[in-house]
Amino acid sequence: MAKKTDSQSKAIAGRAAQPVSGSHALDFGKAWTYAPSPEATDHIKLDKRYELFIGGAWKKPRAGKYFSTISPSTEEKLADVAEADAHDVDLAVTAARTAFDKYWSKMPGRERAKYIYRIARAIQEKARELAIVESMNGGKPIKESRDVDVPLAAAHFFYHAGWADKLDYAFQGRRARPLGVAGQIIPWNFPLLMAAWKIAPALACGNTVVLKPAETTPLTALLLAKLIEECELPPGVVNIITGAGPTGAALVNHPDVNKVAFTGSTDVGKRIQRAVAGTNKRLTLELGGKAANIIFADAPLDQAVEGIVSGIYFNQGHVCCAGSRLLVEESVHDVIVRKLTDRIATLRVGDPLDKNTDVGAINSKMQLTKIQELVKAGEDEGSTRVSAACALPAKGFWFPPTFFTDVAQSSRIAREEIFGPVLSILTFRTPDEAIEKANNTMYGLSAGVWTDKGAKIFWMGQRLKAGVIWGNTYNKFDPTSPFGGFKESGFGREGGRQGLAAYVELEG
Ligand code: NAP
Ligand code: MG
Repeated sequence: MAKKTDSQSKAIAGRAAQPVSGSHALDFGKAWTYAPSPEATDHIKLDKRYELFIGGAWKKPRAGKYFSTISPSTEEKLADVAEADAHDVDLAVTAARTAFDKYWSKMPGRERAKYIYRIARAIQEKARELAIVESMNGGKPIKESRDVDVPLAAAHFFYHAGWADKLDYAFQGRRARPLGVAGQIIPWNFPLLMAAWKIAPALACGNTVVLKPAETTPLTALLLAKLIEECELPPGVVNIITGAGPTGAALVNHPDVNKVAFTGSTDVGKRIQRAVAGTNKRLTLELGGKAANIIFADAPLDQAVEGIVSGIYFNQGHVCCAGSRLLVEESVHDVIVRKLTDRIATLRVGDPLDKNTDVGAINSKMQLTKIQELVKAGEDEGSTRVSAACALPAKGFWFPPTFFTDVAQSSRIAREEIFGPVLSILTFRTPDEAIEKANNTMYGLSAGVWTDKGAKIFWMGQRLKAGVIWGNTYNKFDPTSPFGGFKESGFGREGGRQGLAAYVELEG
């Protein structure tokens, strides 16, 4: 492929800003301008410093170490957070073991259900505060934390409250017993939702929990700990400890942990797999992805463009199942590229707390550097870059919605997970070629298929090696639906009846 110069990598010059002449002329530039509509934050009362939630109480870390957590959109410090070391991890696991032996494993399912239901209700009651803090600490647009993350987190607790007294029906003819203490480690892209995905099924099945949120986004997990405290769960049933990689490693390696549940990078997932090899710890891994979003020529193209946008620009592309490879049937490639160019020019990038914002801040400086490096690799490898020409705030970490055309299957931007708002566009001519290209990846978490023909969706679904396949939609989640990967995207499922299996031993 011929190398492109910088000048060929084009930025969109606000096509929408060209006025139409005549008496009904609309200045589209103005039509797309919204007055700022930021969420109020004066009612948010964050503590200056957060301790570790262990055994139902807030404990100082033994080593007295704390780290700052910031807002990625302003780089302002939000709070100091305790850093748990191996000793603190041991206290948390011991508290979870005691709670398991003394209360939780002995409690009838219908009683556990009441506590889990209470947590769901508490999340609903505090929904606004949780959504705002999620956007402050993680950088995602408030309309996503408000309409997706927080309601889904509550839905996961409601759903699993329903299972707690029905486990004998989930596994026909077999008796489900809890495993014991679950050590759970989550990433920064859906901090509260991932905590809910992990904690709710563990509790429903009668296990106790030690959860570690990501270093950059601990705040909503700590607010959840406060809610759990208010819900008066027996002490030690849920313990939430903060820290970085070494805290997670200490949890994985603790000999009294019975199950490890991890969501994060494939790299760390492999390390964890090695660490638990030879022990009798149970393990589930939800890792990276490089999903293909496949558009057939017979698809409703305008809807497909919306699907592409929600597939890759939702949550700044910080989604493991993001539709980061677009496979377009060759005959509609040019029209899709034109429509997508127009569409990304209208995306509003900026303050995550503004209700009109479509694309918020990149979660951390480190993540921004990774995105920039891969985008540069795309340019160097000769692909054509199109980025929305939006003004980016001076402070904070930002990247404009971007896509690449002229992408070879072998290029880094087609193979590696970018985890940012960057899409690689490839083409295909036949359904077989689409399948071959879609499956040509080490990952297998998700895929999307857009076509007018239902039969084609099923035909594709049978051949795509991906855990979740969306038909004529993208990035839709539901607690009843199992989620998880093939190949290096991990193993085990979360959600649905299948997700319960990861937290029980079956007898009989
Ligand atoms: P990461 O570095 O793997 O971190 C995930 C979690 O593991 C964090 O809490 C992290 O702590 C902790 N951790 C780091 N090193 C560890 C170790 N040696 N032992 C135990 N725990 C350790 O991933 P990330 O960069 O935070 O998140 C982005 C990645 O997660 C992407 O690759 C994405 O695809 C994947 N992801 C997958 C899913 C899924 O469902 N499949 C969902 C979301 C994200 P620190 O935060 O302190 O590093
Ligand atoms: Mg990390």
